[in-house]
Amino acid sequence: MACRNVVGFGSSAGDGGPCGSRAPSRDVASAGRLLERLRAAALEAVAPTRCAGCERPGELICADCLHALALIDPRRSCLGCGAPFGDLVCTECASGLAGGGDESDAAPPRPFAFERCLATATFEEPLPRIVRAYKDAGERRLAPLFAEMLADTVEHAERVAPARYGGLASAADVLVFVPATAAAYRRRGFDHMEAIARPLADMAGLELADALAKRGRTDQRLLGRAGRQAGARGSFDVVRSVRGLRVVLVDDVMTTGSTLDAAARSLLHAGAARVDALVLARVWG
Ligand SMILES: [Zn+2]
Ligand SMILES: [Zn+2]
Repeated sequence: MACRNVVGFGSSAGDGGPCGSRAPSRDVASAGRLLERLRAAALEAVAPTRCAGCERPGELICADCLHALALIDPRRSCLGCGAPFGDLVCTECASGLAGGGDESDAAPPRPFAFERCLATATFEEPLPRIVRAYKDAGERRLAPLFAEMLADTVEHAERVAPARYGGLASAADVLVFVPATAAAYRRRGFDHMEAIARPLADMAGLELADALAKRGRTDQRLLGRAGRQAGARGSFDVVRSVRGLRVVLVDDVMTTGSTLDAAARSLLHAGAARVDALVLARVWG
């Protein structure tokens, strides 16, 4: 998967595809891009870009902050929840499993509805500051950088740990993101995961499926007991067909995993063939 190549293509393709655009519209498009650059330059003069991790002027994420990220080694991470250590499954996942005591070396146990989880880094500084700059301070330019981090994470994991994470993206059919709640959407004015998932889908060569909708509170009261339990964890409606599809489910931060679990459960209910989770940050320790 050559993400950087795909990025290059994606940024120049435009909506109508590479073949459909005629010369005049290309001129208009390039004039638009020129104006965009001029505006960006003017803005840069007034309010120079600062690193989202340390406020240093220059890059959106400086080299020091990139190096300071606590990247997770996919050869040693917990397959069940993406935690940094676990080899096959971490103690936290193992202790939450039903039964126990059986040391059989059959297929590794799964604590969640999703098959595997892959995380870029643990949620330690500077990552929480960077994520806050994106979600709370409105630094939307971070979205393609997060997408690139996630694309690199999958590409690297499939390459160095093929027996563990092989096919996670390369053999998947669609990319699905965990949608923002209505309140978060109103507060931010955009869906922070959709903005990451769009460029990520391009980079990973996957179709983006806007398949999940957060279920409203009122609907939960109409559900049965099992449904209410699912509702307590936050539940989702599947609003487009995912039947038979292998899904990569992406979210920004995984803490207990209950949101991703509920989302994966809904997708499997709707007939998805399998669901793997991909997250930027794993809260750990
Ligand atoms: Zn920095
Ligand atoms: Zn685990």
